[in-house]
Amino acid sequence: MTVVEKVRKAKQLYENYGEILKRKFEKELKELDKSIEETQKFMKKTKLPELCKKCAEEGKCCCRPWVAEEFDVYDLLLNYLLGVDVPEEREVDGLCFFVGKNGCRLKVRQVICVDFLCPKAEKLLGEKEIKLREIEGRELELAFKIKEEIKKELKNLETISHIQN
Ligand code: SF4
Ligand code: SF4
Repeated sequence: MTVVEKVRKAKQLYENYGEILKRKFEKELKELDKSIEETQKFMKKTKLPELCKKCAEEGKCCCRPWVAEEFDVYDLLLNYLLGVDVPEEREVDGLCFFVGKNGCRLKVRQVICVDFLCPKAEKLLGEKEIKLREIEGRELELAFKIKEEIKKELKNLETISHIQN
């Protein structure tokens, strides 16, 4: 499946089951959203986004095209469930499909997106890297757990819908 096909499939699942999933996983989705916000807030404090923005302007951004291929339909569905209008069109050539003019256009990202720090970024962070890793770890763990729960729930919902049709 291409990235756009995965986005469309996730959108279709969201349209069919989004409200049910949001109700069932309200608490978990809120926790994940909060955790992503915490990571972003901490990163802002360290001035890492400014460094990455400058890097992107110089054409050295580490958001490589292959990263978008790593997303599966459920990662994208999770983004829809957190209110992201997942893009169906590329905005920047030569980089990951999800890069926008103002950075990443998703909330729930891949482990590599959350985890990767180039030497320049590591140098900027210094000892704050330990704290950042701790906050990011929580985000990744929550995203992993909720994704697995949602996959199970969707299997049930699709079986019920199949029986009813
Ligand atoms: S992590 Fe490093 S390579 Fe990636 S965008 Fe930031 S500064 Fe650039
Ligand atoms: S952070 Fe966003 S734009 Fe960058 S590689 Fe990950 S998904 Fe793509």
